[in-house]
Amino acid sequence: MRLVLVGPPGAGKGTQAQFLAAHYSIPHIATGDIFRANLKAGTPLGIQAKAFMDKGELVPDSVTNEMVRDRLLQDDAVNGFLLDGFPRNVAQAEVLRANLAEKATPLTAVLELSIDNAEIVARLSSRRTCKECGLPTVNTDKCPTCGGDVYQREDDKAEVITRRLEVYEEQTAPIVSFYRSEGLLITVSAIGSVEEITERAISALSRVS
Ligand code: AMP
Repeated sequence: MRLVLVGPPGAGKGTQAQFLAAHYSIPHIATGDIFRANLKAGTPLGIQAKAFMDKGELVPDSVTNEMVRDRLLQDDAVNGFLLDGFPRNVAQAEVLRANLAEKATPLTAVLELSIDNAEIVARLSSRRTCKECGLPTVNTDKCPTCGGDVYQREDDKAEVITRRLEVYEEQTAPIVSFYRSEGLLITVSAIGSVEEITERAISALSRVS
């Protein structure tokens, strides 16, 4: 299964990605997580990405495309992968298509999590992220999964959320039409419990894999 997960910030991509990656035994590759790990480690990549991330803007394509290309060459991605947060615009989608075509390993499907803006703002402003394992949680002091301390991501603060949604509409939403015209798009509603949404996704994906 070579899968891309698409949806606005706050649609629950990260959470669903964990379950779907485990279900299909494929690595969960989240570009936002890779940037944040680099930021924490103080690498040149992290330092370069920080200025864009703090404003809710996209990190330049040249940097992001190369990072993903390298990641997809690692051994664990040979038999499939789940990309979360990439591609984020049509140019990245075209680079990904070309990279995969070189290896004759095209995408199996693109899963879109659909949700409206009012629900997103409510979700993101109450979202907290674990400092230790990086998983999202809601308004708690400790991570329910590993017990680590939680924090509010700079880009989950109200003013940055608005900008991230604008960036999604302007730059990322067009990839939905791109993948629809490629015949790869599967859309499921992102409203409901985590388990319900996972079941919906697996059932929709069973028709293509
Ligand atoms: P996320 O965790 O997916 O919400 O990503 C957090 C931030 O990382 C985004 O707001 C961007 O600044 C950056 N980022 C993540 N993925 C990409 C991408 N594919 N292209 C450019 N920037 C990205």
